[in-house]
Amino acid sequence: MLLAVISDVHANLEALETVLRDIEGRGVEQILFAGDAVGYGPDPGQCLNLIERLCAEKVAGNHDRAVTGHTPLEYFNENARLALEWTLQQLSDEEMELLKGYEIQKSLKEPGAMLVHATPRFPDSWQYILSLQDAWRAFHHFDEQFCFIGHSHIPFIIELTDSGEIAGPVQEVAVSESSRYIVNSGSVGQPRDRDPRAAYTLWKEDGVEIIRVEYDFRETQQKMAAAGLPSALIARLEWGV
Ligand code: ZN
Repeated sequence: MLLAVISDVHANLEALETVLRDIEGRGVEQILFAGDAVGYGPDPGQCLNLIERLCAEKVAGNHDRAVTGHTPLEYFNENARLALEWTLQQLSDEEMELLKGYEIQKSLKEPGAMLVHATPRFPDSWQYILSLQDAWRAFHHFDEQFCFIGHSHIPFIIELTDSGEIAGPVQEVAVSESSRYIVNSGSVGQPRDRDPRAAYTLWKEDGVEIIRVEYDFRETQQKMAAAGLPSALIARLEWGV
């Protein structure tokens, strides 16, 4: 079994294509998507269609839900809102239907994981898991061995052992049958951990690992500038913030 989990693509086609090539090169059998296909970036339609074609399971992120009208635009800061308003003008009716089909969370019997963008506790209130305490609370709201999330754009793996000890965050872990895990895949299209490389999760039989890949963010930046997207959103791709 070899799976990949991707999250927070945010309409960054260069990052998504680079990650998908890396995934393909490793012989991954199935790709899961943890939300935020669109928002911020310049290629929402193309990213949506790639995710639709290549990801076996998908859930919605807050930006996806904003575009479909479920989450109010007022929830977002100004730059995010401007990018969402731009995104709304780009998507075709068919692409909008794809987004509307995304569920808010999914319990996957096979391979045994919860897939949700923000938290399993209140999936559509868009809270963040940023600390061990947040993670501790979240562990009580899913039954599966793994919960794959995104949302903060900061990758981590946190482990809860059967004796109730919580460990992490780490970027790689050997999986123990008796432990449970919350894994944030970080962001494909807008990393925020001061590492501009695209991030995703590789889920192997015996371990979970956050993978980082360099991509051509300059090309993404040029497209964003041509589209008139906010300059702060363009600059952050270079610094991974
Ligand atoms: Zn996001």
